Amino acid sequence: MCGIVGIYSHKPVAAEIYDSLIHLQHRGQDAAGILTYTKNTQRKFHIKKGAGLVRDIFDEQNMARLQGNLGIGHSRYPTVGGFGIEDAQPIWTAAPYGIAMAHNGNIVNYPDLVKELWQKDRRHLNASVDIEVVLHVFAHALDKATLTNPDSDFFDLICSAVQSTFSRVSGAYSVVAIISGKGMVVFRDPHGIRPLARGIRRNEDGSDDYIFSSETTMFYSLGYDLDGDIHPGEVVYIDLEGNCFSRRLTENQFSPCIFEYVYFARPDTTMNKISVYRARLRMGQNLARRWKETYPDILPDIVIPAPSTANTSALSMAFELGIRYSEGLYKNPFIGRTFIMPGQLQRKKSVKYKLVPQELEIRNKKVMIVDDSIVRGNTSKEIVKMVRDFGAKEVYFVSACPPVKSPCFYGVDMPTRCELIASNMNIEDIRKEMNVDILFYQNIAELVEAVTRKGDHNIDRPCLACLDGVYPVGNINKDIMNGLETQRNHERLKI
Ligand code: SF4
Repeated sequence: MCGIVGIYSHKPVAAEIYDSLIHLQHRGQDAAGILTYTKNTQRKFHIKKGAGLVRDIFDEQNMARLQGNLGIGHSRYPTVGGFGIEDAQPIWTAAPYGIAMAHNGNIVNYPDLVKELWQKDRRHLNASVDIEVVLHVFAHALDKATLTNPDSDFFDLICSAVQSTFSRVSGAYSVVAIISGKGMVVFRDPHGIRPLARGIRRNEDGSDDYIFSSETTMFYSLGYDLDGDIHPGEVVYIDLEGNCFSRRLTENQFSPCIFEYVYFARPDTTMNKISVYRARLRMGQNLARRWKETYPDILPDIVIPAPSTANTSALSMAFELGIRYSEGLYKNPFIGRTFIMPGQLQRKKSVKYKLVPQELEIRNKKVMIVDDSIVRGNTSKEIVKMVRDFGAKEVYFVSACPPVKSPCFYGVDMPTRCELIASNMNIEDIRKEMNVDILFYQNIAELVEAVTRKGDHNIDRPCLACLDGVYPVGNINKDIMNGLETQRNHERLKI
């Protein structure tokens, strides 16, 4: 997962990109980068990238270098590529014009495109990250369109290049880009799998500034108003004078990732016109209603969230059950989210440092633990062990997400079936493995209902591929899945 931001402003933009990345830090903690552009006669990209947290990469000196009124930024968690600085984003190519780009997503046909770009398009790739193929496919198409139709309107040429990108690049991608001498370009894949929100800020002189971002978390503090989302298959172009053009190039099924609402997005985000916080409250409501139907005679003494993504669902579940909500697991705020850390060893090691059980809240009680999801199962097992070690009488484990059974090839790090506990075991076996008295999962229909109940969202069918194995894009059959899993395992060996 990654966070992206692009800002077109009438004043220097580096500080706002930096603040935006701080607000997107939860989407990726391994690397970050900012690229700005000075649109005067200099026509220069200014770039700073590094490994680690945003606050550790940028200092006064390199921020001073990042001049210009257009900029794009990226916070990275890799699902393709390694941890080398050459794989950090934004990246850029010199021709045509000079194009810089950053994205959030994952490209399913990445290996084929790498070959094609070298053999057919004669383009050199220098990194091992999938944004590079998007950049070069787009650059190649824009070059061709410009040479073929030199007198065309530039927005038409951009649309033609994005259309070509849509037809060659299969997967999930939300993209922010700057074209030297031309302006800012933003587009979202034809199914809108990864998010991309749009904000607008009216200046005193009547001019408008624009922000495009994975989440809306920084809009209020930077003074932007939410102006909806980039539609699936839509391209937006802002020229150097600040004129904004947009066009929807495809009309495919809108299938945004359901897991954003379950786990990734910050609760204060509005995504695809749906409040993430409210969606999580509704997940808790649906769970409570079905719990009462399934176990009319069983109630816990206390409901404890596995902090902190599950807090919201646990709160509403406790409310609906009429049971006390307790922060019985204290989370050390200075340790990163375990799911987002690379490598199994680190992930396992970090749980006990991250969470500390509060004995008074747990001892001799029937404890219901609510978590956002159970992916690999390691964290959940350790949490249950902690709660048992601290004297719980009975433990009920509730997952706000249905069983995660299939890998994600669209940008979330759950890539191989052998890692997913629900891909290899039935619910009863998982219950035994986790050592809980009751294991209770959300079902798919009620998760979708919780997410889509409110909001003017136009979602046709959210992507649920990791839950039901139906992949909205990429023609993913058994052979392709085996190949993608092998590729991901190979990538990991390089890390
Ligand atoms: Fe999201 Fe799952 Fe679809 Fe991946 S497979 S995009 S995690 S819903």
